[in-house]
Formats: sequence, structure tokens, C-alpha cells
Amino acid sequence: MILGVPKETVVSERRVALVPELVPRLTKAGLEVLVQPGAGTAAGFLDQAYVEKGARIEPDIFGEASIFLKVQPPAGDEIGKLKEGATLIAFLQPYSSIREIQALAARKVTAFAMELMPRITRAQAMDALSAMSTIAGYKAVVIAANHLPKFFPLLMTAAGTMTPARVFVIGAGVAGLQAIGTAKRLGAVVEAYDTRPAVKEQVESLGAKFVELGLETKDAEDKTGYAKAQSEDFYQKQQQMMSQYVGAADAVIPTALVPGKRAPVLITEEMVRRMRPGSVIVDLAAEQGGNCALTEPGAQVVKHGIVIIGPTNLPSTMPFHASQMYARTVANFLMHILKDGRVHLDLNDQLTRDPLVTHEGEILHEAVKAALAADAKVH
Ligand code: NAD
Repeated sequence: MILGVPKETVVSERRVALVPELVPRLTKAGLEVLVQPGAGTAAGFLDQAYVEKGARIEPDIFGEASIFLKVQPPAGDEIGKLKEGATLIAFLQPYSSIREIQALAARKVTAFAMELMPRITRAQAMDALSAMSTIAGYKAVVIAANHLPKFFPLLMTAAGTMTPARVFVIGAGVAGLQAIGTAKRLGAVVEAYDTRPAVKEQVESLGAKFVELGLETKDAEDKTGYAKAQSEDFYQKQQQMMSQYVGAADAVIPTALVPGKRAPVLITEEMVRRMRPGSVIVDLAAEQGGNCALTEPGAQVVKHGIVIIGPTNLPSTMPFHASQMYARTVANFLMHILKDGRVHLDLNDQLTRDPLVTHEGEILHEAVKAALAADAKVH
């Protein structure tokens, strides 16, 4: 079969879904690999590097390939160019890209959403979301350090002693833990909070202090390890109890998400007003609306003297490693569904079934179907 790697069309997207080092693995598995000219350039992977590893540079991959690897969901005109019955593996944003999912089904594309990979041990090497969260957590701290008018570490100099920066991380999942580790390495004093008590030990093992608000409960976590949504009353209590920690911090990095929902607002305008001037908030929940009430997704604003940054695609700002990590998860998944050089689906296998959104003209994923039905009611 022929595999194609299109150049990403979203303007701000610098990642690529396949890096040259993985080409031999795919050709050994019986695939011919085509890459659109310049597909990896923004990430630091030149056309020549793909050719040296056995790929062919081809402008018209859509006419030839029947397996496609992408980062972003395909745009409408790209979907029209996919061969009927083609296989597509990408971040499909299945709950928000409703029209695209319908178009993929109509085109009879077998489409896999990398963000729907099950969080089971067998799928760890295919966990693209965790890989990208690792990058976001690291980069958030670097951005915070860059904007803070202070040192992160304790410094004792002839010109006096500088006290270390205080960093408060809200939500200690994959991104939060990486932010904690990075802030510690830069010498900050780090505190963190999460509604899931299970993470206390992980926070402490990174040398940070776990803030106990008395709100965290075993019930905060669903059986897949994700946080459950809480009541408005709960979030208000959380805001009140976290206020002193937010106020004492030089940099706050909120990362709190609840799958399929708007991110909870945990930092109110009043809490921002009580922060010290020059402090920084890097809101990693910006893509889902933000954990801070004043966050503007995709923008950097200054409110009440506080710099509030709402990045929406941090992995794309580190495209070399982001592409390398993403491409490995994608290639690992592709190997899982390939048999004798052909796509072979075992629909009884959770690892194949969970990320499968469309197949043979149908939308198969239950949660995506529910999102579509809800959308149809509104329109
Ligand atoms: P996420 O990105 O959905 O959320 C980030 C964090 O925000 C989570 O830790 C969540 O508990 C927290 N949060 C939600 N509401 C909050 C609130 N009101 N206040 C404070 N914190 C809040 O989560 P994630 O980082 O993708 O992963 C969550 C967990 O899933 C991980 O910690 C891990 O235990 C598990 N996981 C398992 C695997 C695997 O088994 N393969 C892989 C990755 C993650």
C-alpha cells in the first residue's frame, strides 16, 4: 500500500506527522512512503532527509496514497481529495470538527483520532496526547520564566540575594507534572494542586509541595484516570480556597481539564487583581476556554498588571521534538493495524476500536455520535 504525508495546511501548524527516521520502519513493513514537498521543513526535516531514508517526494500524494498520516484534521477540500476507502490517522478534534467527521464518513474514509487512544498499558507508546502535553507543560514554564521580571532560582550574588520565584501549578496531569519538574529544574519553589488525591505522591516526588484544600476526593477521578466534572458550588469553593496560593505566586500555570467539557474557571478576575504586579499566568487550558476568567485563547493580555497568556498550540512551537514524538505514536499505531503490508482491522480490539471514528460510511464512535446528535438539535 502507498502511504502519504501531506504538508499541513493550518497556517500556524509547524509539526509534521512523519519524521525521516521512521521511514525505514514503514518501508520494511511493506509500505511505499510519499511525502509532499516541504511537509517537514517547518519542523527542521528537509525533503532530502526523507529521500535519504527511502521516501519519495511527491506533490500529488492524494492521487496515489491510500493511507494518510496528518497532525491537524483535514480541511474540507483535503477530504474531497482522499481516495474513497482511504485510511487516515490524525488529531481529528472529533467533538468540535463535526462537519469534517461527517464528510469523512461520506467519503467512506477509515479515520482514526489519535486523541481517542485508550489509556491502557498496551497503548502507552501510541499516546499522542500525553506526548504533546509533555511539550506543553515544559514550554509553559519557559514562557512564564521569559515574561517574569524576576529570576526563577535563588541567587546569592555580590549584589545581594535574590529569592526564588514561586510557581503554582493547578492540575497535575501529564502537562502539570512536566511543568512542575521544569519549574523545579529552573530553581523555583513549586506548589501544585489537583482534585485527584492520587497525584499527591507524584507531585511530592518531583520536589514540589502538594496543596491540600480538603476538597480533593477519590470520586474526582473516573475509571480511565481522567477528572470528573464537579458542580459550580465545588468550583466556587475551590476558587476561594486557592485564592491565597494564586496570590502568593509569581507564575501560575493552570492545566485543569475535564474531557469533553469547557475547562473549569478556577481563577476569577478578583483573584487576578490580588496577584503581585508583573506576575504571569500561562493558561494551558486556553484551548478549552481557559482556567482563568480573563484568558483570551490564542492571545497574550495584561490585566490588572498581570500578564495572562492563553497559548492554543504550544507543541507546534517546538516542532522538531513535537513531530518526533507525535510521529512515533502514530507509527506505533499504524504498525498495530497493519498486517502483511495492508490495513487490517480487528474491530473487537479495544486499541483499534476506541480511536476509530468513521469506517465504511458510518460514524462508529459513540461519544462522537452523541456530540453530532446534540449539534443537530441546536441547528
Ligand atoms: P487532563 O489533561 O484531562 O487534565 C489535567 C489535570 O487537571 C488532571 O490531572 C485533572 O485531574 C486536573 N483537574 C481537572 N479538574 C481540576 C480542578 N477543578 N482542579 C484541579 N485540577 C483539576 O489530564 P491528563 O494529563 O491527560 O491525564 C490525567 C491522568 O490520566 C494522568 O495523571 C494519569 O493518571 C492518567 N494517564 C494514564 C495514561 C495511561 O495509562 N496510558 C496516560 C496518560 C495519563
